[in-house]
Amino acid sequence: MTDYRAPVSDMRFVLQEIAELPKIAALPGYEEATPDLVEAVLEEAGKLASDLLAPLNQKGDEVGSILENGVVRTPEGFAAAYAQYVEGGWNAVPFDPEYGGQGLPWAIGVAAQEMWNAANMSFALCPLLTQGAVELLQAHGSPQQKETYLANLISGSWTGTMNLTEPQAGTDVGAVRSRAVKDGDHWRVTGQKIFITWGEHDVAENIVHMVLARTPDAPEGTRGLSLFLVPKFVPDAEGRPAMRNDLRCVSLEHKLGIKASPTCVMSFGDNEGAIGFLIGEEHRGMEYMFTMMNNARLSVGVQGVAIAERAYQQALDYARDRMQGRQFGSRDGKPVAIINHPDVRRMLMTMRALTEAARALAYYTAASLDHSKANPDATERERYSRDVLELLTPVTKAWCTDIGCEVASIGIQVHGGMGFIEETGAAQHYRDARIAPIYEGTNGVQALDLITRKIMRHDGQPALRLLEDVRGTQEKLGKAEGEAFPALHRGLKEAADAFEEATNWLIETYRERPLEAAAGATPYLRLTGTLAGGWLLAKGALAAAEKREDPASDRAFLDAKITTARFYADSILPEAIAAAAATTRGSASVLALEDLEV
Ligand SMILES: Cc1cc2nc3c(=O)[nH]c(=O)nc-3n(C[C@H](O)[C@H](O)[C@H](O)COP(=O)(O)OP(=O)(O)OC[C@H]3O[C@@H](n4cnc5c(N)ncnc54)[C@H](O)[C@@H]3O)c2cc1C
Repeated sequence: MTDYRAPVSDMRFVLQEIAELPKIAALPGYEEATPDLVEAVLEEAGKLASDLLAPLNQKGDEVGSILENGVVRTPEGFAAAYAQYVEGGWNAVPFDPEYGGQGLPWAIGVAAQEMWNAANMSFALCPLLTQGAVELLQAHGSPQQKETYLANLISGSWTGTMNLTEPQAGTDVGAVRSRAVKDGDHWRVTGQKIFITWGEHDVAENIVHMVLARTPDAPEGTRGLSLFLVPKFVPDAEGRPAMRNDLRCVSLEHKLGIKASPTCVMSFGDNEGAIGFLIGEEHRGMEYMFTMMNNARLSVGVQGVAIAERAYQQALDYARDRMQGRQFGSRDGKPVAIINHPDVRRMLMTMRALTEAARALAYYTAASLDHSKANPDATERERYSRDVLELLTPVTKAWCTDIGCEVASIGIQVHGGMGFIEETGAAQHYRDARIAPIYEGTNGVQALDLITRKIMRHDGQPALRLLEDVRGTQEKLGKAEGEAFPALHRGLKEAADAFEEATNWLIETYRERPLEAAAGATPYLRLTGTLAGGWLLAKGALAAAEKREDPASDRAFLDAKITTARFYADSILPEAIAAAAATTRGSASVLALEDLEV
């Protein structure tokens, strides 16, 4: 496996030009997000990721986490690395300073997250869930719960988990059977949860489980679910981890990838019942859990970006070194590195363009989270929240994680046979990437969420607002000077036309033939992601063209941004047209064969 180098130049560019960090830094509470601070964060996080986390990745995959006498042991080096991560204050980046957080924008936090995940996705999953638990408690915890748990979770000295899934309750969370009964000032929780990420481990002194369970006489389905905070060690009056709670890890799953991340079957309440504390009100658990899930959905999208970047770097290094064949069309008989073959170049450009587009989308969505929290103008807050953050969270989750898999797969292809052999590490990226389209709500469920709650609930308006923004950039491309811009203009216009047609179809079809609309949801999400990625790369190309006028600028980097955007416009944006056709024309035949066994 090759080393990981944080792509700091592109991160910096995307933060400035796409996430528009200067605008975020002007919001109340985010004044500290100065360019100098951003530089320091990118540089230091990059070092930690490359020097500490990345070297543990391949070994972690080989040995995995193990369960021994009821104790989960993470691979050698993980606990020490986690301690260093906490010591450096990295867990606290985007959180409330009142509880020890650094109060920095999510846009910056997401850049750091990309580095942890690219370096070592198994490791990064632990803070990913802790962060969701922090968001949940900040939004819905009681003052006492915040006092006892927030500072420890924000620092990372305690970690958090999310406990939804049970054998009969996967996508259908409403089928959860775990129970909770009142016992004085707390509750007793019983039940079995499966697939719980970092549900038990040896890297932190306490684990705070967020558990969905049903109280007596609760209504059926999601409306009857309540949310409980169930600590591994119940804190004493001073807030120190004290009594061991009645919960345990029964077994660890054997998985395709992310083998160092312990995926636990958890049993709550084998004896007297695990002590749990109700969060918020009874029966509103699912609503609260959505705070955690939305946060995690954005972060899982970032995992897609991260693994794509890692796979790209690995493939690029290999393509430069591997000598094979002669230069196509040349009489010179000397062997060349495979990077010289046009088809290998095509693969590398595809990996690069998809990765940069996915990064732009993830950081742009994270920036809208900052605006939706901190913008002083209520109308603007609402606009960022509904038209950007809510609309693009399922797209970021699903589109970026699909790209993670696609890019990791191309990465194997670039390696030829060596890609299929574990030794190079290319196969690990592919195996690790594969979970991200599944957990945190499968990508099919994200597509349904996009067309129902995010678009049709608002009569299609958020999608039409996105289209307006894209048309604005399209107009600028039409007037811009430079060789690449006519191609960028054409590519974006064709994709925007396709999106407009598919959105109008969705609005018309949804009410009359909802099954057909649902059958078109995944190609529609693919279309939205492909368009949004192309739009943001085009915005980046316009910014790069302007910046390169400055003689002090890094012209090679800026020219590469323009070329990459053009490649995307020529070779990837046309897929939007195909996705629109699959949405509008394909969905009837998806449902036509009643018996698929015929
Ligand atoms: C490694 C790993 C880590 C995980 N970590 C956690 C964790 O920390 N906490 C936690 O609670 N869970 C966790 N999960 C569980 C994960 O979120 C679920 O696996 C996922 O939500 C899908 O549920 P399922 O596996 O039961 O699949 P199913 O729900 O059985 O789905 C099977 C297929 O049917 C489709 N499908 C199902 N219902 C619908 C529908 N209504 N409409 C359209 N399509 C549908 C799905 O998209 C999927 O393709 C983890 C899983 C894994 C493998």
